[in-house]
Order: sequence, then C-alpha cells, then structure tokens
Amino acid sequence: MSDYPQTQLYINGGWREGSKERLSIINPASDEIIGTVANAGRDNLDESLAAAATGFNLWRQISAFERAKLLHNAAQLLRDRVEKIATIMTLEQGKPIAESTTETLGAADTIDWFAEEARRAYGRVIPSRSLNVRQVVVKEPVGPVAAFSPWNFPLNQAVRKVAAGLAAGCSVILKGPEETPASCAELVRAFADAGLPAGVLNLVFGVPADISDHLISHPIIRKISFTGSTPVGKQLAALAGAHMKRVTMELGGHAPAIVFDDADVDLAVRILAGAKFRNAGQVCVAPTRFLIQEKVYASFLDGFVKAAEAITVGNGLDAGVTMGPLANGRRLDAMEALTSNAVSLGGTIATGGDKIGNRGNFYKPTVLTNVPLEARVLNEEPFGPIAIVSPFSTYDAAIEEANRLPYGLAAYAYTTSAKTSAALGRDVQCGMLSINHHGLALPELPFGGTKDSGYGSEGGTEAMDNFFNIKLVTESV
Ligand code: NAD
Repeated sequence: MSDYPQTQLYINGGWREGSKERLSIINPASDEIIGTVANAGRDNLDESLAAAATGFNLWRQISAFERAKLLHNAAQLLRDRVEKIATIMTLEQGKPIAESTTETLGAADTIDWFAEEARRAYGRVIPSRSLNVRQVVVKEPVGPVAAFSPWNFPLNQAVRKVAAGLAAGCSVILKGPEETPASCAELVRAFADAGLPAGVLNLVFGVPADISDHLISHPIIRKISFTGSTPVGKQLAALAGAHMKRVTMELGGHAPAIVFDDADVDLAVRILAGAKFRNAGQVCVAPTRFLIQEKVYASFLDGFVKAAEAITVGNGLDAGVTMGPLANGRRLDAMEALTSNAVSLGGTIATGGDKIGNRGNFYKPTVLTNVPLEARVLNEEPFGPIAIVSPFSTYDAAIEEANRLPYGLAAYAYTTSAKTSAALGRDVQCGMLSINHHGLALPELPFGGTKDSGYGSEGGTEAMDNFFNIKLVTESV
C-alpha cells in the first residue's frame, strides 16, 4: 500500500527503529497487512527518558511566547498536510475520510488554542499580612510527562496531551496507539518539522504494559496522562500512586441520552444518530443508553431506526460512505457477543444486529429495544455502533437510570423546558452534559469524567493546570 508509511520511533530528535521486532498494521476495511510499526525495547525507552529529561531542562527555559510560536507552526503544518494525514488515518483506523479530515483540522485547532494558553498561564500576588512581605504564586511545568493515547482518535486523543503539555513547558514521551500508529506519528512529525528542540517530544510504540510499567515507575517521569479503558486506567493510576505521580485519566463511558416528551424529537433523532454512529460508535462520549419518555418513544424509535438504516457502511476511502468498519477484530467480536447476550435475555433487534460480509470488521448500525437492565450491553461500554432505546415515565426514573452505572463521562438531554434543563444540570452525574445539541470536545471546553470515567480534564484552561505545579514564593523585602 504505497500511501501507507512505515512508522518509526522518534527519540531525541531523530526517527529510528526499535530494538524489538516490528509489529504489523492491518487495514480494518480489508483485513490486509498494510505496513508495520517500530517496536521499542527497554533500551529505546531509556533513551527516550534521558532525552525527555534533557528536553525538559531546555524547553522550560524557552519563553511561553516562543513556545506558542512553535506550536502555531506545527498546527499550520498539520493543515498543510491534511489530505495525506487523513488518508493514512482512514487506511489504518477505518473511519470515513471526512471524519479523518475533521479530526486532523481539529488537532490543528487544539494546538493553536493551547499555544495561546501558554501565554496566559498567570500566577497570583496574594495580599500579605505585613507591608514588607510579598507573596507570589507561580505555575511551573510539572516535568517530563508519559502520555498514553488510544486508537479510536489517533490524532485527537494524542494532541490534547501533547499540545497542553508542551504549552505548559513540559517534555513528553508519547506512547502512541500500536494499531493506528502512522497518523499519530504525523502529529509528532509536525512538531519536529516546526523546529521543536531534540528530546522535548518523543514517540514510542511497543508492548503497552511493558512501556507503561517502565515509564510510570521511572523517577524522570513526573506526570501520567492516559486515555483508554477503565480497567487499564485503574491499573495505571495505582502504579502512578505508588510512585506519587500526577495523573489524568480519560476512561470509558456509557452515556445516557434522555429525550423528554416536550423535546423537538426530529432534532434529537438527527443529532443523536450522528453522535451515536460517528467513528462507528468507538467514541468514549458516544450516546448509548437512549432513555425516551413514553409519549415520544414510538416516534423517536421510528426516526432513529430510519436514521440508522440510512447510514452507508463501507470502506472509509469510498465516496458516500458514512460509517467505516470497526477498528479491530476485538470490537467486532464484542458487538456480536453483546447483541446475542441482549437477545438471549429478551431484547429485540429493531435494526442491524449483524456483521456485514466476510472481509473487514463491518457491523450494521444496530438499535436494540426491550433490553433488560441485567444485559451486558446496558452495563459494559459497547464502544461500537449499538444503541439501546428504552422508555421511561417520570423525570426521577430517567435520572435513576442515567446515574445507575459506575461511569460518569458524557450525558445528553433533549427538552424544551428550562426548568427540566436546570434540574438536569444539577442531577445528572457526569463530567459533561450537552442539552439540545452536541456541544462537546472543543479545545476551549473542559473534557473529562467523574466516577469510573476518570479524573482531570483534557480541555479548557483546566487541561493546562494538569501540567503545572503550583509554587508559592514569599519574600520579605
Ligand atoms: P484495552 O483495554 O486493551 O486498551 C485500551 C487502550 O489502552 C489501548 O490504547 C491500549 O493500547 C492501551 N493499553 C492497554 N493496556 C495498557 C497498559 N498496560 N499500559 C498502557 N496502555 C495500555 O482495550 P481495547 O480493546 O484496545 O479497547 C477497548 C476498550 O477500551 C473499549 O471498550 C473502551 O472502553 C476503551 N477505550 C476507551 C477510549 C477512550 O476514548 N476513552 C479509547 C480507546 C479504548
């Protein structure tokens, strides 16, 4: 596949091979091996740690003004290269080319936003109890960061960590996604080509547990940022805790989408169907539990099933395709297992419920109804194109179901009542609540969860704060 590059590690300002055998990359639309990625051994990790230590000492002394200029240049390089990067992303991850393009341009916007924030990392002067004492609070970069980013958004999960960390003055070792490495490497290439000094940003791939064990416990690393599943996040947070490292965890979700009797049902169908099936549902904030008040249940279900059936599933490079394959065989197996479990417990398939063809990881956009609460799909994050639609009668019943799970990432609601909106803002246990539109994941907005969905924010000024230590300097003058 000529368009698909062979991905290397990036350590101390140079692209290089890993000391272990390369790993294969599979196109999820065809099952073909399209390339390989370098595989880091312990020696490569140690080189990247030494580079991150040197890089941090250099980068922290470069002014925020200069750091911002460099970040803006990297953002522009992503925009200049969008066509190439989007093609690579679709080849390795499967999403439609329009989504890959949006993701690449969105990554550039994220870098620009954090570049500006770099210049606004203000401290404070606190009035003292004595006229000759000056009390100043300053923000200092926390140090070298180990960042772990997943395969569902190869650029956008990585860029939040990298751009915020670099803007704050930290150096970063990014462990990118082994299944979708080449588009993530293009993000690092943009920073490298923009002139980032050697060692400030390093990229490794390999055996995830080996890399996280070594990096998290190593004294050079001062901060951990992970996006992925809740079970892995808990392991990594425990390891980080044992070594007293700062942590941001962006983990799984199982978002409720509550549609009330007074909602604009057509609007709810259109926006929620788009949000559900984008990236074949492999989105941590994807709506999953559709809770529909009784009077509008039938009309919502009818519209939602029609919207699911109108989706064109296929190779993300083909024109007109609106949903690609699942990114790996694990997700396809999970969709089949979750659907058959729901059906075995009395659930009904309103549409979909099957894989498509024998090549690639294609699964039909699926809507399930009559699913009992004990079904796996109502308790485990499906991370795929399955929606479960259930009726509810009262506000309290909807809130009880919305808050039932240990997850608390995103939630959605549709209502024309200002009173209901205000109550939802108070009652839904989540990190992000979007009412009457889909308004999440912009660089300037906080992005993160509560409960088992993790802690810390990956957007907004809060995201920068994760990369700072607060230092008090009090001086008698
Ligand atoms: P997984 O739990 O094996 O891996 C999830 C991510 O964590 C991957 O990127 C993987 O490389 C990484 N990982 C796994 N073990 C690790 C370790 N010991 N150290 C460092 N990184 C490690 O599962 P999977 O099959 O790749 O993904 C399935 C589940 O992961 C989904 O059901 C979803 O819940 C979750 N997930 C969430 C997000 C998100 O955006 N929050 C992204 C990807 C996956």
